[in-house]
Amino acid sequence: MRKLALLLVLVVLGVAGAYVAAGMQPGPAITITKPGKFAGAAIPLEYDIKSGAVITSERVFFEQNGARVEVHTGPAPVGAAAPGAHGLNSIHANLTISAAAVPNLKVLAGPAKIIVVASATIWKIRTVESEMATDVTIRLEKPRVSVVSTKHYINLGGAEMIVYRATPSDVASGVKVGDIEYPGFATTGDLHIAFFALRYDQELKTPMSLYARDASGEVATSDFDHMTFAKKPFKKSTIPLDDKFLDRVVPAILAGTNEVVPAGSTIDKFVVINSELRRRNNEKIRSMAEKTAPTMLWGTEVFYPFTNTKAEAAFADFRTYMYQGKEVDKQVHLGFDLASFANASVVAANKGKVLFAAELGIYGNCVIIDHGMGVQSLYGHLSSFAIKAGDMVERGQEIGKTGITGLAGGDHLHFTMLVNGQMVNPIEWWDPHWIADRIERKLKEG
Ligand SMILES: [Zn+2]
Repeated sequence: MRKLALLLVLVVLGVAGAYVAAGMQPGPAITITKPGKFAGAAIPLEYDIKSGAVITSERVFFEQNGARVEVHTGPAPVGAAAPGAHGLNSIHANLTISAAAVPNLKVLAGPAKIIVVASATIWKIRTVESEMATDVTIRLEKPRVSVVSTKHYINLGGAEMIVYRATPSDVASGVKVGDIEYPGFATTGDLHIAFFALRYDQELKTPMSLYARDASGEVATSDFDHMTFAKKPFKKSTIPLDDKFLDRVVPAILAGTNEVVPAGSTIDKFVVINSELRRRNNEKIRSMAEKTAPTMLWGTEVFYPFTNTKAEAAFADFRTYMYQGKEVDKQVHLGFDLASFANASVVAANKGKVLFAAELGIYGNCVIIDHGMGVQSLYGHLSSFAIKAGDMVERGQEIGKTGITGLAGGDHLHFTMLVNGQMVNPIEWWDPHWIADRIERKLKEG
């Protein structure tokens, strides 16, 4: 009798111990990959459940404003078809839930929670449960975009402006030209302005449209009336290189950068500077677009046309570089070379904020001024600076003196305009008729 009692106690203790040990086993591991931060009325769900023991249940809840609705129950039988793949120890679920498909489910705009609960049975004596939740913001207002301004004319290598409406207020919107996006900027109400360009190397029939994209990835697009023009074929020129020039510019440029470390002869180093360093310098210039002001800092006054100077090279000249009778490189010159006299005064082409005033590879001592909404101007080869990064400058204010720094054959100013980091023909910005028709007319239409 006592033996039996002892045995009973041992069995009870054993079972209790096993029960406690089972409870200490980890529950299923849950990973939720969808939804992301945002979702629309239909909510994508993707999650994985992995467990050392057999998964016995899987439930998904949608929680909003304190109300919790079960939106999915599993697991489906092992080997079942969609949704996802269900095994004894692992589940990969991939489905979409919507109010239309789930009774009692109401999806409202605003913050919500997705909760996945999974359980597994340990040694067939105890169930352990895990829970994982993710926050999601529901957006029900779809992005919309529509054009307001009319008659958009774009020259190859030139710029244009558009006025349009975009909603809701937090969408990212602008103009897409081919695969290049030009962000727009909100003005009053739902009105926006975007400056955009047709790059010198894009096709005249490159697709152009307005876009509005929200944080959940919903995109609206809209066409706008436009015509493109290739006014004149771009000029072709040959640049002969001699040792005197190479010996002056190559060591000086390499001393001021660690972005390229070319080996070989001086002409080999020149080609690396002219191609690879040019590409990196242009990337740096493009990155300045991210720092643009969201308003037009310049009013609409025509850009300072540097009329006292002579243009030695125009925008998008196709240059072939020759050394000792052989072609060594080809590049496109994306600016104007303006010469008057050595150490001539260089002025800000319009009102704006100095973003950059430092040495920049092939551009030598270089200034970039932001005029807002992605419009910027660039001044290269300066011998000295009269301003520093961060300064606000007025139209006509001296910013430095011309020089021969960087890849400059003689004393001149290299000038270009930028639209969201893309180099565009400055001629348009110097032309009062262009400013009046392309910009001022549309501002009035808006
Ligand atoms: Zn130039």
